[in-house]
Amino acid sequence: WSSHDFSWTKELEVNNKKVFGNHSFRPNQREVINATMSGCDVFVLMPTGGGKSLTYQLPALICHGITLVISPLVSLIQDQIMHLLQANIPAAYLSANMEWTEQQEILRELTSDYCKYKLLYVTPEKVVKSDNLLRHLENLHFRELLARIVIDEAHCVSQWGHDFRPDYQGLGILKQKFPNTPVLALTATATASVKEDVVQALGLVNCVVFRQSFNRPNLWYSVVPKTKKCLEDIDKFIRENHFDECGIIYCLSRMDCEKVAGNLQECGHKCAFYHGSMDPSQRSFVQNQWSKDEINIICATVAFGMGINKPDVRFVIHHSLPKSIEGYHQECGRAGRDGQRSSCVLYYSYSDYIRVKHMISQGSIEQSPMASGYNRSNMINPGSILETNTENLMRMVSYCENDVDCRRLLQLVHFGEKFNSSTCHKTCDNCLKITNFIEKDVTEIAKQLVELVKLTGQRFSSSHILEVYRGSFSQMVKKNRHETVSLHAAGKHLAKGEASRILHHLVVEDILVEEVKKSDFYGSVSSILKVNELKVCNLFAGHKIILRFPSSVK
Ligand code: ADP
Ligand code: ZN
Repeated sequence: WSSHDFSWTKELEVNNKKVFGNHSFRPNQREVINATMSGCDVFVLMPTGGGKSLTYQLPALICHGITLVISPLVSLIQDQIMHLLQANIPAAYLSANMEWTEQQEILRELTSDYCKYKLLYVTPEKVVKSDNLLRHLENLHFRELLARIVIDEAHCVSQWGHDFRPDYQGLGILKQKFPNTPVLALTATATASVKEDVVQALGLVNCVVFRQSFNRPNLWYSVVPKTKKCLEDIDKFIRENHFDECGIIYCLSRMDCEKVAGNLQECGHKCAFYHGSMDPSQRSFVQNQWSKDEINIICATVAFGMGINKPDVRFVIHHSLPKSIEGYHQECGRAGRDGQRSSCVLYYSYSDYIRVKHMISQGSIEQSPMASGYNRSNMINPGSILETNTENLMRMVSYCENDVDCRRLLQLVHFGEKFNSSTCHKTCDNCLKITNFIEKDVTEIAKQLVELVKLTGQRFSSSHILEVYRGSFSQMVKKNRHETVSLHAAGKHLAKGEASRILHHLVVEDILVEEVKKSDFYGSVSSILKVNELKVCNLFAGHKIILRFPSSVK
């Protein structure tokens, strides 16, 4: 797909320069464009800031007809339309909270012979809930004017994704109605299971997949213990490393945002807060101040950041534990879009884990706006959603408690990517810290964990297996009578986090497989561990598992 010999190559190059003002293409942009223009269904995983928009806006410009773009947020859509109109590309959007007459006008334009729009943006609700829109699309399709369907933020389709949005699941109807219209699905965050979910739900056929490394070499990662002096620590960190530079501080609750912002203001930082209970005008006021560099620092919940295109964010601080590794990676990804060195610091305490867990179970945690609609839905079984969320949170905890492995490696493994930690070049706290490490043979522990997965019937999640191995008597353990299993508490002598590292290693090595389980009628999901018999024999045939530990640990 990277070839230059397509009939549209010249036109691409010219318009990329002339209309979009780019001198060249970024990695995978040309390839994605060639694949979608050849008529294939395409799935694109590209990190935030990688340049996904161009991969459909440029084809939209040079293809005959209209490109339909489904995007989760009106504010994102408005931002895109503004940019398109600035570049003289005619585009429009339809959303439920628009004046009826305005909607009618746009729909009327769609039926005209000389429809001026090159792109039409809609929210997923519009597709799923408006027959009127579907009829207009059918009409466009009939007149061979429906060029392409783009699903932006496609991970919202999946309950595995951290922004699950029920209406996205209904988008499969598009492929059913328009089987020959190419679909382009785009996302910045997707694990292998999310990708499978998306491809299936959208009904993509023989889809071409582009995935780019999620490693962001210019971001420096660290996890710092969170103490009572956390606010002083943050002030000091910014003063010493990023004074007068731009940054985001992610906080757990609305109150935290206001508290942290107030404190930093007192310390003399140009700082404001941003969260979901502010009214829209307040929010856009803050966002505006920030875009114009009138304030440097925003203390925000995850409600902030979607569609934020500020290239020079020099630091992202997490004042509390994020709720998943995917979410964490994406939030950090808002730093350093210009490629310059930027810091990502996470303040971790175990008590925050308890707090987040409680908030998740109460449904009181603020969602990223993409996931809105999530709580309103009665389609999902809240029990298993809770399980998925708790599992995601547990992984975040073990990320924080891991003080040995490269942070990049730990994140990338989560996205199914292999990463050689020597290429981190000491840009994370763990790689920086570990100059002396010893290698320890953990094969026996690994065998026990595999055995335990088998003993409990290959029906349980990794966090459950770890609980049993460490000797927990939790409700879940007792309910399944796992305190009576012979390996219950066999790992209680191990240092905290050690068993979980070994278990994760087994998953990375494909000896244990994490299987997505669609458990019931509602299609809810959870993950269970199974033993990969093909690989497990290596373990018992003398293949050793060696992990590195800081040299102080015996
Ligand atoms: P994503 O949606 O993947 O996060 P965007 O499409 O918003 O990324 O693009 C991020 C930024 O990169 C935008 O400011 C865009 O103008 C710029 N950009 C995209 N493609 C190119 C390119 N080929 N050359 C230079 N800049 C580009
Ligand atoms: Zn590292």
